[in-house]
Amino acid sequence: MRSRYCAYVLEDPEYLKASWHPDFRPVELALERGIRWLGLEIRACDQQSGRATVEFEARLLLQGKVDAIHENSSFVRQQGRWLYTDGEMLQPSFTQWQPERNAACPCASGKKFKRCCGG
Ligand SMILES: [Zn+2]
Repeated sequence: MRSRYCAYVLEDPEYLKASWHPDFRPVELALERGIRWLGLEIRACDQQSGRATVEFEARLLLQGKVDAIHENSSFVRQQGRWLYTDGEMLQPSFTQWQPERNAACPCASGKKFKRCCGG
């Protein structure tokens, strides 16, 4: 049977972001500016008593390029809440790439890249 925490995360990836402790958010998420999130994909989730690990890949647009953060994140349960503690960076499933200026924008706005995130 799937643990409750994993069930939440797998059904609603926003739940993962909500449980990141402010002091322990992945560095990129806290520091990078101008990021446009394209999607968060949960690859694996494992929970045992008061600890959980979640492997995710987040796709993002930064400075006109499509990139990804692939991380194995650790969480601990404290006073009934799951808090992010640290993460191990993994190799993203693709290398950073730059969309064609006239191609559809990867953010799915329906606009051309040059008129949207690549502008
Ligand atoms: Zn866009």
